[in-house]
Amino acid sequence: MKRDDFGAGWSSGGMGGSDTWGHARPAATLDFRQDPLTGMMDRAALVAAANRRCAHGIALVVLTVDVRGFTLLNEQVGWSECDRLLQGVAYRCNRLTESVPSPALVGRTGADEFAIVFEVGDDASRAITDARIRALQYGLEAPFEGAQGPLLVDFTFGRCELPSEAEDAQVALVRATAARLEGPVAGDNVSHYAQYRSECSLLLDLRRAVSARRITIAWQPQVELPGGRITGAEALARWTREDGTEVPPGLFLPLAERDGLITRIDDQVLELALRDFARWRAAGTPVERIAVNVSAAQFQRPGLTQRISDALARHGLPAECLDMEITESVLLCNVPTIIGTMRELHALGVTLSIDDFGTGYSSLSYLRELPIDCIKIDRSFVADIGDHATSREIVRSVLDLADRIGLRVIAEGIESEGQLQMLGAMGCPEGQGFLMARPMAADEFARWAGAR
Ligand SMILES: [Mg+2]
Repeated sequence: MKRDDFGAGWSSGGMGGSDTWGHARPAATLDFRQDPLTGMMDRAALVAAANRRCAHGIALVVLTVDVRGFTLLNEQVGWSECDRLLQGVAYRCNRLTESVPSPALVGRTGADEFAIVFEVGDDASRAITDARIRALQYGLEAPFEGAQGPLLVDFTFGRCELPSEAEDAQVALVRATAARLEGPVAGDNVSHYAQYRSECSLLLDLRRAVSARRITIAWQPQVELPGGRITGAEALARWTREDGTEVPPGLFLPLAERDGLITRIDDQVLELALRDFARWRAAGTPVERIAVNVSAAQFQRPGLTQRISDALARHGLPAECLDMEITESVLLCNVPTIIGTMRELHALGVTLSIDDFGTGYSSLSYLRELPIDCIKIDRSFVADIGDHATSREIVRSVLDLADRIGLRVIAEGIESEGQLQMLGAMGCPEGQGFLMARPMAADEFARWAGAR
């Protein structure tokens, strides 16, 4: 990219080309409203121009381009530098989508948001449009030349199809914006409205379920190897939709994490888990300890230790009975507050486990710096243990490491007798998985535990 990419080239009128499709020209027509910073059409003008094309029966594809973390960027480099950046983005959007015979409409539709409207006539023009969108995504990846040096900027893209003249381009724009996906710039980082809509309906249902406290839990036992004495139980979130279909946790939990709903689910799971456990204790069910999963978002909310301490007190339970499972992703936010919270929880008496150990964060220094009590060997290593020498040796090394630094270990996802025996032979002290028991409701768990 040339130096003038960062705005100057664009605002000095280097574009040329068709004047009705969003290029910087003085406002000549009635609805051509210009964005003063970039010289592009503004939102209203873009929508009006797109609607004119719709009226001629031309199918359109709307792509939105959004600067990621723009507010933060403003704080880092200042407003004037950000203005230059926006001019640079505008320049690239114009240049990279220019083509004959169907020039795209390009406009600035929000503070850090641009929209490009492509015409799609037949399959061939659709393929060309896809190629142009990819070219734009890659073109935007290159650093921008700023006054303070090159600036790397990430974008999010959203996409929506506008198939007929019946619809309003404004609607397509809103849909494309809503359908955008966070993530690195890549060819497949363009979301489609249909997928968005199905996720949206799932999310709405999930919101209702959470506010009606319809999230439930299932318990999976953790047992000693060998022998099978119960050492603990992990509470797992479950959600059944009102039509009776059970939504897999692998589907609704990531959705809840993206949406921020996860902290409410964490709260409810904790409450249900402590309630069940208090009942078990009163009934003499042989379980010493329960484990709950805590999301990274929950860990970053202020006052976690107080909330945990209050919840324990409400159910008359000692902190020592509670184990909090965190994934390595929590440790990616390795900020002093996280460390502080972990130490507070530990001081309270709660134990901390690293869930899915070995699949996330590639640093082991946290084992030295943080008060970790237990590591849970990820199920993917356990699944491979019989067939892959490398998985086997990784498990052996983790067991050895944990033993040397005094950590408990639980192997996750044990599903076969062969895996159980191999883990036993390596001296793995604890395990959980379908082989021992599938997750169960609290009553069933109590019966299962009592019958052993
Ligand atoms: Mg877990």
